[in-house]
Amino acid sequence: MFEVKAMSKSVTIAGVKAEPGEKAHGAVAVPHLFADGQPMEIPFTIFNGAEEGPRLYIQVAQHPAETWGLEGVYNVLSALDPAELSGVVTFSLPNPVGFRFASYFPPRITHDINRVGSGDPDGSLMERIVHAWWVNFVEGRADYVVDIHGVPPATFVYYEAHGVSPGVPEEVAEKSERMALLYSCDFVLKQLEAYGGGSSFRGACVDHGIPAIVPEVAPDGAAVTERGIRNIMVDLGMIEGEIELPPVQHILNWTADRKAAVVACSVGGCYIPKVEIGDVVETGDVVGVMYSPRTFEEVETLRAHRDGYVSSIRNYPVKTAGEPVMSILEVLEIVENG
Ligand SMILES: [Zn+2]
Repeated sequence: MFEVKAMSKSVTIAGVKAEPGEKAHGAVAVPHLFADGQPMEIPFTIFNGAEEGPRLYIQVAQHPAETWGLEGVYNVLSALDPAELSGVVTFSLPNPVGFRFASYFPPRITHDINRVGSGDPDGSLMERIVHAWWVNFVEGRADYVVDIHGVPPATFVYYEAHGVSPGVPEEVAEKSERMALLYSCDFVLKQLEAYGGGSSFRGACVDHGIPAIVPEVAPDGAAVTERGIRNIMVDLGMIEGEIELPPVQHILNWTADRKAAVVACSVGGCYIPKVEIGDVVETGDVVGVMYSPRTFEEVETLRAHRDGYVSSIRNYPVKTAGEPVMSILEVLEIVENG
């Protein structure tokens, strides 16, 4: 089909302007933040396509040290030519304080930075930082949001099912699911209940009708992240290319009750898994053994407590009684990609 694409318009963030077909760098200042009078500066990059199209916002490491998606994003953005782009890609390092030192600086920056929704300009340090993301990168500026975290043993993507955010059209959840699958991991976690009490940044995006995903990227996740971001941009018509997906993907059921997912040991000891991430097991299957590092006798056989997909295996084998050893999630759907 022949299509005439409209010319893009200039994009300005925090006084930094990118004309159509150009990229620009800058920093958003969160003013009056620190006792020494210094603002906090959030660095960002704009890729403004020569032609009009969707606006995609990507951020990595809102949680300190969750940086494993950065290399994949680098591989995409370092090669991205705005002259060949339709639409706008904006990227930021959203939490530079945490990024510099890989530290949460408790209690000021914690996981709660992902529990303040879209933030508050008059609130706490975390609320002010998140508000700066919201008004500069998201509100009226992004049609799709990719909020990259880490660091599980195998890369997967979170997204929200329709109905979790009240009053949001079903197409928002459909677009989020499409992006989640395009990220091209072997499995995705569909949130059938509100994550973090409904106050995550991703949740705030969906609440405002913006499709959004949270990839949780493993240390080996550069290639999948590169492929995933490219796939999403190809699918949205932002760049030319082929979509590459694994032959099979599993959609798993995430619920807020984490205990429901885990296989826990009933006695202390060391475990040896007998399954791998990605295995599909049935209730009662042997999934691991516990042994005593004192007697070198087996002290427990670990069995699957439900039918499902092994989505995580804890990587440190020394466990006290009652500790989680692995997670098994219910399979909602198996997606076959031609
Ligand atoms: Zn995180």
